[in-house]
Amino acid sequence: MITKKIGFIGAGQMARALAEGLLHKGLLVPDQVLASDPSESARQKFHEATGAETTPNNLDVVRRQDVVILAVKPQQIPKVLEELRGRVAPEKLVISIAAGIALQQLEEGLGAHTRVIRVMPNTPALVGFAASAYALGKNAGPDDASLVQQLLEAIGIAVRVDEKLLDAVTALSGSGPAYVYLMIEVLTDAGVRHGLSRDVALTLAAQTVRGAAEMVMRTGQHPAVLKDQVTSPGGTTIAALAAMESQGFRGAVLAGVEAAWRRARELS
Ligand code: NAD
Repeated sequence: MITKKIGFIGAGQMARALAEGLLHKGLLVPDQVLASDPSESARQKFHEATGAETTPNNLDVVRRQDVVILAVKPQQIPKVLEELRGRVAPEKLVISIAAGIALQQLEEGLGAHTRVIRVMPNTPALVGFAASAYALGKNAGPDDASLVQQLLEAIGIAVRVDEKLLDAVTALSGSGPAYVYLMIEVLTDAGVRHGLSRDVALTLAAQTVRGAAEMVMRTGQHPAVLKDQVTSPGGTTIAALAAMESQGFRGAVLAGVEAAWRRARELS
């Protein structure tokens, strides 16, 4: 159970997913949550999903809540920082989930003493399977780190990294769902090519990705060991792997992640 009052600035998809996760896990009750958003429909959806109070006024959240989660789009961040500047008391914690907004920008924008944590979640947060990473600002301490860990675990898993590694996180898990969707799409096409209906092929492809990920997470075995276990001598799987390797499968993935990492560095 979390005893602090949690506020959201921006009551969109991510704020809703986080609040729902926290309420669903029994870590919070709706009275502990307040979300602000200029959009009436966003406020209404947030209230319907969580039972929590909403307000059109961002400063209500800053005044009343102990933890303020910035859940607006990155383009909106400068405007929100300007509004909040000098108004965040030192005992409050600010958590930003806005992609590409650096701790320095947040600290400078809010006032140098502010305790800030920057989080990079990913879209499976919306179904409770986020892979998030977070970095602490210069004023945030160990208690702030445990709180953010607990909050993020309501929507998936979370790891702490130094801020300089957040571009690598963005390239791997931030953009990563798209790489895996591509894999699922092409596996489905391949199944259809060999006679399966699209529905059946898609179900088998998606469940295979889910199942393989679960095997890695639950057994703790190296993926190469698990791969060896399904690769019998002279069999179908090794024939497939040999063909994929000859088309540069590993090289394509490495090059893709590198391109995303470069782009993240350019944008931040
Ligand atoms: P969203 O558009 O669903 O929600 C943003 C909300 O902010 C909207 O309801 C909008 O009305 C509100 N808003 C706009 N200006 C505002 C202001 N000045 N004050 C208060 N509220 C304002 O966006 P989202 O998908 O929930 O993304 C939120 C943040 O999370 C983004 O910064 C994004 O980079 C980050 N993020 C999202 C995902 C994801 O899975 N969707 C993944 C990684 C990072």
